[in-house]
Amino acid sequence: MMATTHALAGVVLAVLVGALFPESAAGTSVLPIAAAALGGLFPDFDLYAGHRRTLHFPVYFSAAAVVAVAVAVAAPTALTVAAALFLAAAALHSAMDALGGGLELKPWLGTSERAVYSHYHGQWIRPRRWIRYDGAPEDLALAVAFALPAMYALDGVAETVVVAAVAVSAFYVLVRKSMVTVTEELVAALPDSLVDRLPARFVEDLR
Ligand SMILES: [Zn+2]
Repeated sequence: MMATTHALAGVVLAVLVGALFPESAAGTSVLPIAAAALGGLFPDFDLYAGHRRTLHFPVYFSAAAVVAVAVAVAAPTALTVAAALFLAAAALHSAMDALGGGLELKPWLGTSERAVYSHYHGQWIRPRRWIRYDGAPEDLALAVAFALPAMYALDGVAETVVVAAVAVSAFYVLVRKSMVTVTEELVAALPDSLVDRLPARFVEDLR
């Protein structure tokens, strides 16, 4: 799934907590919502270094989130609630990746059996392909489904950021496949000395 879909999933999680507990920091402060969005994005910061393995922890993020939620319930402050939502959104992201496509350059071909790595199990979890690949039309539909309740509940800058995330997602969906073609052509045109400097994973996939 797209990074924006994951971020919006985090936001909707925070919005839900804010709706259930309107007196809590999630209902009164923007910090927990921002933390949830960042937590939803965070695992994909490993895009260029061991993607879906280095910063993806489906089991450990979930365990950490349970502890952080307990702390937030025992001592509810904007900071503890924000920390709990950050970890819960990162856990949700890591788990959701198993429902998407594989790790290959053209995930719509469905050839990879690697969706996300579980350090706890010491192996890759296979892709379920409910969302066939990141940037698929159904990925956008999911992002919009997360964005709508968030737009309803939020206003001001937070709402604008949500709308912007949907716009970025829609653009990404439009260019998703041609982006790969253009990159392939670029790499094919590069001199070998430059290609040597690219991460091996990309070159293997692209050449
Ligand atoms: Zn991911």
